[in-house]
Amino acid sequence: MANEEQLLTLEDVADRLKISVSTVRRWVKSNELRSIKIGNRGQYRISLEDLEEFLAEQESQQADTTAVATYKRGREWRQAVDWARAHTKYIVVIGGVISGLGKGIASASIGKLLNSRLSIVPIKCDGYLNTDPGTMNPIEHGEVFVLDDGGEVDMDFGHYERFLGVTCRFEWNLTMGKVYKTILEHEREGFYLGQTVQLIPHVTDVIKEWFFEIPGRLQADIGLIEIGGTVGDMENELYLEAVRQLRQEVGEENVLFVLLTYIPIPAGVEEQKSKPTQQSVKLLNERGIRPDVIIGRCAERLTEKIKRKIALFCNINKGAVISGLDVTSVYQIPLIFEEEGLTEIVHKRLSIYSPPQLLEWRKLVDRLLSPSGPLIRVAICGKYTNLHDSYASVIEAVKHSGAHIDGQVEIEWLDTAELERGNFSCADFLRKVDAVIVPGGFGTRGIEGKIQVIRYCRENNVPFLGICYGMQLAVVEYARHVVGLSGAHTTEAAEDGFEVADPVVCILPEQVGITQKGGTMRLGGHDVMLKENSRAARLYRSPKIRERFRHRYEVNPEYVARLEKAGMVFSGHNPAGTIMQVMELPNHPYFLGCQFHPELTSKLEEPAPLFRGLIRTAFERKRTQQASESLAGEAQE
Ligand code: GLN
Repeated sequence: MANEEQLLTLEDVADRLKISVSTVRRWVKSNELRSIKIGNRGQYRISLEDLEEFLAEQESQQADTTAVATYKRGREWRQAVDWARAHTKYIVVIGGVISGLGKGIASASIGKLLNSRLSIVPIKCDGYLNTDPGTMNPIEHGEVFVLDDGGEVDMDFGHYERFLGVTCRFEWNLTMGKVYKTILEHEREGFYLGQTVQLIPHVTDVIKEWFFEIPGRLQADIGLIEIGGTVGDMENELYLEAVRQLRQEVGEENVLFVLLTYIPIPAGVEEQKSKPTQQSVKLLNERGIRPDVIIGRCAERLTEKIKRKIALFCNINKGAVISGLDVTSVYQIPLIFEEEGLTEIVHKRLSIYSPPQLLEWRKLVDRLLSPSGPLIRVAICGKYTNLHDSYASVIEAVKHSGAHIDGQVEIEWLDTAELERGNFSCADFLRKVDAVIVPGGFGTRGIEGKIQVIRYCRENNVPFLGICYGMQLAVVEYARHVVGLSGAHTTEAAEDGFEVADPVVCILPEQVGITQKGGTMRLGGHDVMLKENSRAARLYRSPKIRERFRHRYEVNPEYVARLEKAGMVFSGHNPAGTIMQVMELPNHPYFLGCQFHPELTSKLEEPAPLFRGLIRTAFERKRTQQASESLAGEAQE
């Protein structure tokens, strides 16, 4: 792992090699030179190790540059493309009728059915022209999901990672912006040698090259391509044309098209209707694509009658019409697809064999659907009105942990801005909950409310997990009420004009001078060292972990000694020991804060340890409480 100090900027690299910054940027963009993306506006860091490796590779390639047929794309690239062309099979998921049918979940579920023996790489194609989805407004798109390589992507990647257990990479997200950018760069570099550069074949060629390169680099068995939007959208026409050509190139037997459509049951008619599906299939046929599988999203299982009708009019086997039932839990979807016979169709069609292993999954889903045992109420305390989407991964992580206990977990929402306004009492609300999560956040709205919540948890032994901002505010609370620094605050509040006498949380040194709010952050996966015998080390069962970050501020090192003297334990830090990354109070049933986002890597089969610890502690306390209540009851009788 690169030492934090060894990270070079593009300018540093250019300086060292006496070359232009734009060349370095090009290497980074084409992924020839590995980098860590630290912001939305093209900021990257490069570790010394990666730079040396890259230079060595360049040297070894110099001998046969003439053999590199394609512009700026080395031997490795060519090998990857050739490998995928010869070995990789593709499943392409396309949407019809309306958006919002859960194409991401459907794709992830198909992958889940096949990943027992095959390696799968998800590729998401977005039609918009941003080159980088990180620059889009997260409120519009729900939660920002942060990848290990620091890429900020949409929630679909969360589904892929949770269902497939893969660590996705930022470049697996294509956008038309990226596609056009590449074309324009090629054109400027003289790659097209006087040709007229056209949407077809040049743009579709670039898209196809990506379809080959991404799985090829990993020698993946299956490229799982999800095309954003719905058929008929102007934005995704070129992706559709590219997948049509893909099938033509690698053969019918290596590409499977799945169309996800909508089967309405209009009120009053009370019958499943196939017309919208037929129309979508027609649109797809016009583009030279015939679906192999149609998944009909519907409030009910599809009837035999409608399956027959769709098969007849859409020219596919009846067995290949699959119910995409509305469900309570998204984790049911792979199970439903399996029951509907999807795995077998895919196996046959692509001549592969990878029987789904769903035993454990099914058990956990059953628990989620019909939980028994004591009810555990978990309060998530934040400031957003649209709390649910902004904290999607936090909700999932709570559910994952809930599936591993013999209890029922329910989430309660606490709007800390309302709390500040005095609309209800903190104690009244929290008395009724068994665990509290203060998740990540930005800005100052609602933060005094969060601090009140944290104080209540600390003083009343309520199990507490503070994530990122939640940890920072737990440090502020402790500094104010235990260390006695009444002016303790985060300098993030100073930016909003608040007085900060004691900046116990302050800007990361690397962020100083970057004034653009949210413009850049410390992003992505980093190693964290855990203190021996701490609660964190016990929960993770390991002294060294890797977690994902998205922040600009950190615990101010100047206050660490005072906080520790007052009883706070910093049980996790970066390898250099300079940034405090986990905090805990040993004399509390469960009071833990982390600077990273454990929710991003939580999975149904393997919940994030810090969530699991929280829910388990809450569950055990509840059981003891109930036992002593019933004992007291018996004694009264
Ligand atoms: N606002 C805080 C920071 O930037 C916390 C960020 C977060 O919770 N993700 O450091």
